[in-house]
Amino acid sequence: MEKFDRIAIIGAGVMGRGIAQVSASSGFNVVMFDIEQRILQGAFEEIRRGLRRMVERGRLGEEEATAILGRVSTSLSLPEAVEGAGLVIEAVPEALELKRRVWSEVSASASSDAVFATNTSSLSITSISEAVSRPERFIGMHFFNPPTVMRLVEVIPGAYTSLETVEAVKGIAERMGKTPVIVKKDSPGFIVNRVLITYLNEAARLLERGYTKEQIDAGMQYGAGMPLGPFMLMDLIGLDIVYNILKVFEEKLGPNYRPATAVERLFRENKLGRKTSEGFYNYREAPKVSEEDGRGFNVKLLLDILISEARKVVEEGIADPETVDKAMKLGANLPSGPFEMARRA
Ligand code: NAD
Repeated sequence: MEKFDRIAIIGAGVMGRGIAQVSASSGFNVVMFDIEQRILQGAFEEIRRGLRRMVERGRLGEEEATAILGRVSTSLSLPEAVEGAGLVIEAVPEALELKRRVWSEVSASASSDAVFATNTSSLSITSISEAVSRPERFIGMHFFNPPTVMRLVEVIPGAYTSLETVEAVKGIAERMGKTPVIVKKDSPGFIVNRVLITYLNEAARLLERGYTKEQIDAGMQYGAGMPLGPFMLMDLIGLDIVYNILKVFEEKLGPNYRPATAVERLFRENKLGRKTSEGFYNYREAPKVSEEDGRGFNVKLLLDILISEARKVVEEGIADPETVDKAMKLGANLPSGPFEMARRA
């Protein structure tokens, strides 16, 4: 494992900084690279604040926090950041051409035995991997937001990925305290986003049939045991992320995945959810629903979608039912997996 002791993180945004914190907390030395000093500074400060909060809550010792922070460094030079790194994790914005450009630069500077992992949510691992000189060492390593909290990591081999690379990344994810699941096929949205985002889109379509968001959210929360109803969840994920993933699904999987009218409208109006203070709900005050609000909503309408999309994932050879259930519970916080739900129904 020694050769993996140094990890380079490319892109220190929401995901990159979280992955850096997780890595340093598990004993890896990490260097974050981004395009502006201001961003790197912000990322470093956020990690420092996160660790301080843990110390205040008694979940981490003072000395340990200092040691973790001591393992985090930043760089504005890509060649310097990847030099000597055993693993490079990329978390730059979700755009194929940008990712390919970044990876061809990484590939030119990294050591020949380094493993390359992209955190893409919806792009093809194989097509990104074609930008590097050794695609057998390239893989998808999909963390969930926030990476410091969410235990699941989807590990997605592309068409050229070697078994050795799969094993190495699985081992690193475990060393980070995560639960890796191997996704058998490089397919849009992998397991969790494919099922979850399709379900969220269907919830938005139900608005066109006269249901209200409060009714659906309350129904799913109180009637189906979801931690959050679908509209509150879309606001949390961000309507831009939901919309862009659905556009990829529409293009690659067909017109059934076209974004619902309400999702598209909010995206165009830049009402992206919590991050812009308005999405389906207004966040100047915390939205709430009561059990009463859910009356008249049959949760089966949406649970059936979760189950049927999960079946497609299995039929298409992306994962087996046990893996789908495990991934949906850990990556989407479902109270039970879609196949467990189907068995109970
Ligand atoms: P973000 O916008 O918060 O961060 C991206 C960072 O990349 C920014 O700091 C930006 O300055 C930097 N960047 C831009 N161009 C760069 C370049 N050429 N070289 C280096 N850095 C550059 O985005 P994010 O939400 O962290 O998403 C990053 C990736 O993770 C995307 O592929 C996304 O699909 C995926 N992802 C996101 C989430 C999520 O919930 N946000 C969850 C899982 C996966």
